[in-house]
Amino acid sequence: MNPATATAPGATGTGLAAADRATLIHPTLPAHRTDRTVLVSGSGCRVTDAAGREYLDASAVLGVTQVGHGRAELARAAAEQMTRLEYFHTWGTVTNDRAVELATRLAGLAPGGLRRTYFTSGGAEGNEIALRMARLHHHRRGEPQRTWILARTMGYHGIGYGSGGVSGFPVYHTGFGPSMPDVHFLTPPHPYRRELFSGADVTEFCLAELRESIERIGPERIAAMIGEPVMGGIGAVVPPADYWPRVAELLRSYGILLILDEVVTGYGRTGHWFAAEHVGVVPDILVTAKGLTSGYLPHGAVLVSDEVADTVTGEQGFPVGYTYTGHPTACAVALANLDIIEREGLAANAAAVGAHLKDGLTRLLDLPVVAEVRGVGLMLAVELTSDKEARRPLPQGTTEVADALREQAGIILRTNPYALVINPPLVFTRQDAGLLVDGLRSVLSRVGLDGH
Ligand code: PLP
Repeated sequence: MNPATATAPGATGTGLAAADRATLIHPTLPAHRTDRTVLVSGSGCRVTDAAGREYLDASAVLGVTQVGHGRAELARAAAEQMTRLEYFHTWGTVTNDRAVELATRLAGLAPGGLRRTYFTSGGAEGNEIALRMARLHHHRRGEPQRTWILARTMGYHGIGYGSGGVSGFPVYHTGFGPSMPDVHFLTPPHPYRRELFSGADVTEFCLAELRESIERIGPERIAAMIGEPVMGGIGAVVPPADYWPRVAELLRSYGILLILDEVVTGYGRTGHWFAAEHVGVVPDILVTAKGLTSGYLPHGAVLVSDEVADTVTGEQGFPVGYTYTGHPTACAVALANLDIIEREGLAANAAAVGAHLKDGLTRLLDLPVVAEVRGVGLMLAVELTSDKEARRPLPQGTTEVADALREQAGIILRTNPYALVINPPLVFTRQDAGLLVDGLRSVLSRVGLDGH
């Protein structure tokens, strides 16, 4: 008998979990894990499982759900649009009212001069477009040899061929055959990882390495540098204040484009509409997704300077398009989502509640297992350690901690091997922050430093 039909989903979590095991391939799930958290509903910063247990969502799913779960306003926006014009593309001369409306709105929100928009269905798709635009821009300007992309180890940009190619974690490269060529990885500005800098100042080290790399590859062969303004994958790493302005200035002096990946940081998460404002640079291309629709529908927007947009559209047009580019229902949901972010002042809330939460988390530094609390707005992280002096990671990793937080404290958050990643919905309150800090204290005070 087909195992999928043998265990068809029932009303209970047990039935659903069994059917899930039989049918679904999950990212990052090892086969020995047979347990499942079967979520069935959500409201605000809470989600509920099939057994009726409620959890505090301190992850905004994957740093996505800015406006929180269960917003009927977004469902209405989708339904209204679907019953009028559910879908069309924006290829060639075709366009639609919602796509134009959203692009116009984004032109008004984007940092300095990024007035032109290309729509995607997600973050990796956006970075694919950004990388293609960067190379095509130089190609069409008579510098086809500018193909190299500078990226950072521990940077994350998605899992497409290009976006995965510039993501600086071995796991995205090993076992998948050749990665995209002409990519050079730089050291990330991650002050906690002091061993990376041999005692030097972080910005000075990174700038010297960048200059030396550009000279070695040859500036005339480099198309762009891509980076997250605040690095999310390794846990809310905010670079020193002078890092991005000096990097941007150096790149500009060599005619190298800057692509900022704001897939996580965009739409209020850092307390600004875009983290570009926080780090004080205007890129040539700014990639967004996630918070654009708060995840109610998959959607993304690549915001582009006039200079780059003019060359890549030009006489021949921009030759690559996605089936769902300019999707009117996704655009309608994005517009309604931006209305909520604006009306409820969610960027300001991220700044205020984020600062309050960071204060609370900082008090956890008295625990032997907590090495560092960092981040900005509602993009925060707690670095865990088995030895504060040596800054050694927990030998058992962080998965068990995340499991204990979920099971014992009813808190859902993401982890990487070193840190707890805290990206709650931007509607998070001071009370939610208090519950989160209390839950963390009760679980983290029981974590063993010896791998158990
Ligand atoms: N860029 C960054 C900074 C991300 O954090 C992510 C996803 O987490 C992506 C790109 C990829 O986005 P998506 O999963 O929508 O393709």
